[in-house]
Amino acid sequence: MSIASLRQQLISGDITSTAILENLAREISARDPITGAYLSYDLDAALEEAARVDLSLPLGGIPIAIKDNINVLGQPCTCGSKFLSENYKSPYDATVVKKLRAAGAIPFGRMNQDEFAMGSATENSALQTTRNPHDPERIPGGSSGGSAAAVADRTAIAALGSDTGGSIRQPASHCGVVGLKPSYGRVSRYGLVAFASSLDQIGPLTHTVEDAARILQAIAGYDPADSTCLDAPVPDYLAQLDAGVSGLKLGVPKEYFGDGIDPGVRRNVDAAIQKLAAQGAEIIEISLPNTEHAVATYYVIAPAEASSNLSRFDGIRYGHRTANPSDILDLYKKSRDEGFGPEVKRRIILGTYVLSSGYYDAYYGRAQRIRTLIRRDFEEAFTQVDAILSPVAPTPARRIGAFANDPLHEYLSDIFTISANLAGIPGISVPCGTTDFDGGTALPTGLQILGPHLGEARLLQIARAAEL
Ligand code: GLN
Repeated sequence: MSIASLRQQLISGDITSTAILENLAREISARDPITGAYLSYDLDAALEEAARVDLSLPLGGIPIAIKDNINVLGQPCTCGSKFLSENYKSPYDATVVKKLRAAGAIPFGRMNQDEFAMGSATENSALQTTRNPHDPERIPGGSSGGSAAAVADRTAIAALGSDTGGSIRQPASHCGVVGLKPSYGRVSRYGLVAFASSLDQIGPLTHTVEDAARILQAIAGYDPADSTCLDAPVPDYLAQLDAGVSGLKLGVPKEYFGDGIDPGVRRNVDAAIQKLAAQGAEIIEISLPNTEHAVATYYVIAPAEASSNLSRFDGIRYGHRTANPSDILDLYKKSRDEGFGPEVKRRIILGTYVLSSGYYDAYYGRAQRIRTLIRRDFEEAFTQVDAILSPVAPTPARRIGAFANDPLHEYLSDIFTISANLAGIPGISVPCGTTDFDGGTALPTGLQILGPHLGEARLLQIARAAEL
């Protein structure tokens, strides 16, 4: 199921892209009624592309599933929201989709997610429930839960997700797959429906670290259509993949191993760290002293930006429009009331509050200053170490519904992933064994590796060593 092995079979002629798609469609019909990862898929459109695919390209003939907040020309783009599920079809390809096509890949499948990517369980999707393939009573994680669950369920070969505070890495960890959030500015967000623009990044969810490198290679690079996208050379991400970790300094932040971590997660992460040490890495205890402020900082900044970004959903330009408005104000109000779910409304209210003139300095301005301190913690750490190792999430996948009506508890579980977005640095989640948890057995856990800005090549190299 890896891109690498399918590419070999495609080139040798043992399999065709058409056959891969037909197999996937069969697997989806067999298992996705339980998993619920796919919101939709267009087999005919994909087969048409497969018929004229160029196998000489790096991802030639490989179908890639796309989170439903990334625009694919002519396909739905619901963002997991009622607002966009009735009548919206994408009028253009996101830059990442254009780049995937240019590398020969075929976008196939629209993956469930938390509404507008707000959540950590995919339970905030207004459209359907996605279940963890390792235990259907449990969440797949989120917000890119559909992308992670499909890869784990082998109904997708690889997928794109988006990560604003952990939404690629955490579902990858819960589903036992690889998930990479690139550095801020490494990958264009043109055509990604914005959640929090200073934090959002698109990245791959895959079976292997090598596959993540292959997809990053295809989607990274400058895009004049996204003013935050960096004009920096894209290295060869496969070149140093097998270089090992001998002589590398890997930091273990003491703040990431405190109370509240499930003992099974801790045991598996410790074992992964020991494995890297056995391969010659030097393990160094470090400190990221502002970690304790990360969740509060994020949950001021992200809702503030979201409240601004979501103002475009007004019932006029696109998506849901209320049936019989009495006047224009009523049209805005009712369309937004009917179209948005409870978590999205909570964030809009929170965001407009922290941005309001009376509270701006106390909340938003302060959060921005703490964000700088968090970024400096990492800059300081990376003068001592090449990368940082930690758990991805405090626990393995919990049961569906366990945090119902407890959003704060849910927010706190983002503690290990959020800082990377605030600092703009890359992070990868690699499977590191399974554990029992809360009545469940053999639930996946993940090792998170964080690196300095634009340090993806080194990150992938370490991840590859952790995966072996
Ligand atoms: N769980 C975080 C939130 O709810 C992060 C989501 C994300 O990365 N899109 O905001």
